[in-house]
Amino acid sequence: MEHSDNGFFNQYGGKYVAEVLRRPLDELEIAFESAMKDESFLQELKTIQRDYIGRETPLLYAEQASKILGGAQIYIKMEGLANTGAHKINNAIGQCLLAKRMGKKRIIAETGAGQHGLATAAACAKLGLDCTVYMGEVDVRRQQPNVAAMEIYGAKVHPVTSGSRTLKDAVNEAMRDWAANPDTTHYVLGSALGPAPFPDIVREFQSVIGKEVEKQAAERHLDIEALIACVGGGSNSIGFFSPFIDKKTPRLIGVEAGGIGSGIGENAARMTGSASRTGIMQGYKSRFLLDDDGQALPTRSISAGLDYCGIGPQLAALGKSGRIEFTVARDEEALNAVKFFAKNEGVLFALESAHAGAEAIRLAPTLPKEKAIIVNMSGRGDKDIFITCPVFRPAEWKQFLLSELKRLDNAQDIHDTEVMK
Ligand SMILES: *Cc1c(COP(=O)(O)O)cnc(C)c1O
Repeated sequence: MEHSDNGFFNQYGGKYVAEVLRRPLDELEIAFESAMKDESFLQELKTIQRDYIGRETPLLYAEQASKILGGAQIYIKMEGLANTGAHKINNAIGQCLLAKRMGKKRIIAETGAGQHGLATAAACAKLGLDCTVYMGEVDVRRQQPNVAAMEIYGAKVHPVTSGSRTLKDAVNEAMRDWAANPDTTHYVLGSALGPAPFPDIVREFQSVIGKEVEKQAAERHLDIEALIACVGGGSNSIGFFSPFIDKKTPRLIGVEAGGIGSGIGENAARMTGSASRTGIMQGYKSRFLLDDDGQALPTRSISAGLDYCGIGPQLAALGKSGRIEFTVARDEEALNAVKFFAKNEGVLFALESAHAGAEAIRLAPTLPKEKAIIVNMSGRGDKDIFITCPVFRPAEWKQFLLSELKRLDNAQDIHDTEVMK
């Protein structure tokens, strides 16, 4: 089940959208299929992946971590070294290049925590495209560093004031914009979900991760027991797993956000949680965290990227079939994994990726030394300092923020500086 069957992955997927969105989705599907057969498009994609994103990303042998845990050898796929700091750029660049090929000069995107918006803004800057990012007003307020970065890349951030003013409202607003401007505009959806053909497109552009891993592991003759990835919408995991899906081995392990516990509203465990249900939302059928009336339930995770009530349809199908095993890691385990790999490998995991790291820490000691497990570090943790520092060093961090505020109040010179516009 490496590809969808007419937009479906067994019973999940589909294209449940208003009539006005059918034409742009159908056009996108045709354009995508033709681009993926066009040697010059594939060459252009390869060149920009190499020179702009910085591919291929390394496969790091975590030698000390493996020794300490005393079992299987741990390898880390270093997606966090991709330009802009995470795997999201793989999809953003791919879709923006596709939009250009379709003759579209305007890009829109939705963003929650701001990571996908940031990647799309950077890709648009690189490719000379106009960029508008829809973001819930609540998220705009709490994710200022990413909002600032998007604007520095030249994107317009459009605060969404409807509904709960968070990610799902931003998606609705982006869909509305696309329905109104299909001829000029491409909608870059950020994860392996949404209506067909997005799950296939996003997986394809992220599959570069898995293809590199396959080659890197073969060069080193690794006996891979398992691949481990964190699962938000599912883009880094499905791209990483993609070349292995139709094989029997290795084990594929998806790690969801366990948050602070197993109760409703305490996690984002769409596959293993007690409120996991099949539903249709935002254009696709999949597993969601829903109440008895089919309304989306609140979710919780220390990592903004895993904090979502839905999961990509292909992940849901592969979870049901048993090809992908799902587990959860709680906030505390993710924080411990950040510390463990920072201290023992000099690698700072993003909080999302640290959920996969936590599973590796649990699994490695149960396996023989000849086996390898590969963890996808989907992003690096620099972006998380506003979350990790208040946990790791609360008093010092508070003191720092207070002194920064004072510095801003006093620094007339900052206000007076003429910035080149
Ligand atoms: C957004 C994000 C994720 C979760 O999204 P997926 O689509 O599930 O990959 C994971 N890791 C990082 C670093 C992210 O920014």
